[in-house]
Amino acid sequence: MADDIFDVINPATEELVASVPMASADEVDAAVRRAAAAYPAWRAVAPGDRARLLRRFAEVVDAHTDELAALEVAEAGHPVGNARWEAGNLRDVLHYYAGAPERLTGRQIPVPGGIDITFQEPLGVVGLIVPWNFPLPILGWGLAPALAAGNTVVAKPAELTPLTALRVAELALEAGLPEDVFQVLPGRGTVAGRVLVDHELVRKIVFTGSTAVGKEIMARAAGGVKRVTLELGGKSANIVFADADLEKAAAAAPMSFCDNTGQDCCARSRILVQREAYDRFLELLEPHILAVRAGDPNDPGTEMGPLVSAAQLDRVRGYVPDNAPVAMRGSVPSGKGFWYPATVLTPADVRDRTVTDEIFGPVTAVIPFEDEDDAVRIANATAYGLAGSIWTRDVGRALRVSRGVEAGNLSVNSHSSVRYWTPFGGFKQSGLGRELGPDALAAFTDTKNVFIATE
Ligand code: NAD
Repeated sequence: MADDIFDVINPATEELVASVPMASADEVDAAVRRAAAAYPAWRAVAPGDRARLLRRFAEVVDAHTDELAALEVAEAGHPVGNARWEAGNLRDVLHYYAGAPERLTGRQIPVPGGIDITFQEPLGVVGLIVPWNFPLPILGWGLAPALAAGNTVVAKPAELTPLTALRVAELALEAGLPEDVFQVLPGRGTVAGRVLVDHELVRKIVFTGSTAVGKEIMARAAGGVKRVTLELGGKSANIVFADADLEKAAAAAPMSFCDNTGQDCCARSRILVQREAYDRFLELLEPHILAVRAGDPNDPGTEMGPLVSAAQLDRVRGYVPDNAPVAMRGSVPSGKGFWYPATVLTPADVRDRTVTDEIFGPVTAVIPFEDEDDAVRIANATAYGLAGSIWTRDVGRALRVSRGVEAGNLSVNSHSSVRYWTPFGGFKQSGLGRELGPDALAAFTDTKNVFIATE
C-alpha cells in the first residue's frame, strides 16, 4: 500500500511547507505499546527528578521559541507575535506543572482501627488528540499535567498542523525525557485518532476539537469506561450594556472575534448590545474593524493572518452570501493565501445560522437586547457554553450576569479567557472537564484509598 502523505500548506502563501507521512493504525498501536512499556519506569521516577526533567523541558522549549514560532507561522499562518506567545505558553505550562510532582499529595482520613490514606495514582497511557487552531498551547495543556502526574503520552496533532508537535517531541528527548514517555504521531483523525480512542492500553483521551467529533469520542470511550477530557466548540456572547464604557467595549471587540482569524473556540462570535446603545456601539465599532491589520504573518505588526486552509475559507464564505446583512467589513491582502476580512453582521433573526453556528472565522453577529434577563436568555440560547464577556460599570450586574451565563470562562470589561494557572473548559456541549490551573492534575490521576489496620 502506498504511504499516506499529507501536504502541509502555508496558508498565507499556499506554498508547500512539508509532506508528512500519516501514521497507520499499526504504527499507532505500536506507539501505544511502547508508551505502555515506558510507563512503569516513568511513574517510578522520583518526584523531584520528574519535576527537574519537566523544568529542563520547559527551558529547552524556551530556547527554541523563535524556531517553534516560525513553524507555527508556516503551517498555521498565525501572526508571528501570536506564535511566539503560543510557544511561550507551552513553556509556561511545562514550568507550572513542573511544580506538581512533589505536591501531588493524598489525604489521611480519620477511621477507627487503623489509618486511612489516599494516593493520586497516574492512569497509564494518555492519548492527546489536538486540533489545528492552537497546535502548541493545546498540546501543552494535556501534555504537561499528564507527564507531571506520571503518565506517558501519545499525541496526535491535527493533519493540517503536525510540525510544531513533531519538533516538541524532539525537544523533549533533548531535555532528557526518556524514550517513549512522549511520542507524537501525525495521522488522520479517522485512522490514528480512532486507534487511540479505541485502544485498550490507552486509559484516557484528552480531545480538543469540534463538538461532533467530541461526541463520537465520548461514545467510543464508553466501551472501556475510558476517562475523557473534552474541549469542544463555542458560540460565545460579548454582552454590552448601555452603562458600559462603550468606547472601550468597541475598541476591544474586534480582536475578541478576529484573534487567530476567529479560529478560536472562545471567539465572541455574538455581540449582544442593549438596544438604547445599539446604534452608538456600531458607530464606535466601525473604525476599529477597519483598522484590523490583516497581512503578512511574518510582520510583527500584523494582527490577523489568513484562515488555516482553503476548506476553512470556503466554509466561512458559505456563511456570508452576497445578500448577507454585512454592517461593516475590514480589509485583507489580495492574491495568494486563504484571506477573509473582519466581518460584522446584523442578522434580523436570532435563528439565523450565523447566530447559532460556530463559524470559526472572523465573523460576528450583533444582536440587540432589552434588559439583563433578556441578555442572559439570548446568551444561553445555544448548545455551547465555553466563554463570554460582560461590559458594564455596575459591579452587581457584572456578577449577576456572570452567574447567569452558562459558560465556563467569563470576563468582565475584558475578553481574556485563558491563563495557564486558572481553570479552563466548557459548560453544556462545549466540553467536559477542566484543563489548566490547579485542578487539571486531578484529571490525570485516579484516587486510591488504602486502609491499614493497626489492631
Ligand atoms: P476536529 O474535531 O475536526 O479535529 C480535531 C482533532 O480530532 C484532529 O486532530 C483530528 O484529526 C481529530 N479527529 C477527527 N476525527 C476524529 C475521529 N473520528 N476520532 C478521533 N480523532 C478525530 O476539529 P478542528 O477542526 O481541528 O478544530 C476546530 C474545533 O476545535 C472547533 O470546533 C473549536 O471550537 C474546537 N476547539 C475547542 C477548544 C476548547 O478548548 N474548547 C480549543 C480549540 C479548539
